[in-house]
Amino acid sequence: MSIAILHAPTPPDSVETWLAELRGPSLLWLPGPEELPARALSVLLHGNEPSGINALHRYLQEGRTPARRAMCFIGAVEAARTLPPSRVVAGRNDLNRCFVQPPDDANGALASELLDLLRRADPEALIDVHNNSGHNPAYGVLVDTRPASLALVEFFTARAVLNQLHLGTLIEAQVDRCPSVVIECGQAGAPQADEVAYRGLCAYLEAEELPAAPTQAVQVYRNSVRFELAAGVSLAFVRAGQSRSTSLALRADLEAFNFQCVPRGEVLGWCEGESLPLIARDQSGDDRASDYLYVEAGTLCAKREFTPIMMSTRPEVVINDCLCYLVDEHPL
Ligand SMILES: [Zn+2]
Repeated sequence: MSIAILHAPTPPDSVETWLAELRGPSLLWLPGPEELPARALSVLLHGNEPSGINALHRYLQEGRTPARRAMCFIGAVEAARTLPPSRVVAGRNDLNRCFVQPPDDANGALASELLDLLRRADPEALIDVHNNSGHNPAYGVLVDTRPASLALVEFFTARAVLNQLHLGTLIEAQVDRCPSVVIECGQAGAPQADEVAYRGLCAYLEAEELPAAPTQAVQVYRNSVRFELAAGVSLAFVRAGQSRSTSLALRADLEAFNFQCVPRGEVLGWCEGESLPLIARDQSGDDRASDYLYVEAGTLCAKREFTPIMMSTRPEVVINDCLCYLVDEHPL
């Protein structure tokens, strides 16, 4: 058993002290009516995405009362304790890629254990709180578009992305059991992102009944492809006029395009050779990069309009995860 089970703790004053005191991954139970279903919350599946744990800490400090029993999972405690906090402990699999087919390592075992606890508790909903590493507005991530899932998103934001890629996330593993969504609160460390998380968490935990449908339209985008670095490509982000020493240099201001349209012909960066330095992986795993990008005389350009989200301009994030996802508006 690697998950510590805790009941209604009052945390110390600071999140840092709290993290230092936790033994490791923990499940906090907040009390509520025993005869009614619990609600599940997950925070810190990625150690450098603090809005969820900051919101939970504030919620507990303020002594608020949830309407239902709440099971609150705090995931990557060890990764969060490193300086600076990291997404995942070095050498381990990304925890939020371990839930559908848990790998044979520490995070695979942790994922299996959490799924087991969720199966036994049988909550009526699950919300998994994350941050982006780049500038993004808050949005939900859905793996289905049932009204009850949209209603969970609406506690936090009116914008959502339908993710049709199979990544092995917690919500993919749980969604057949109860409405399950991710909330990306905005950039890690931004006070607005913490506020989005806190307000949404209060609304979710304190709703007398979970709404069966959202009260207003939630704009849903459909995730089409995921841009990753091609094998052997080295990457830097550069400003205009800066010298370049990597095989791919992307514009440092690209993240301003998150949830915005990149026009056809827009210069994205500069690369060596004529082959595309990025892969655009679609749902079936095929590379569609040549639909979106072309290289001309060492310049990487957009072949057609597209809308990126979750763009990060930190090379280590791009190397370990991806550059961005592309989305289309999804008719409901
Ligand atoms: Zn995350």
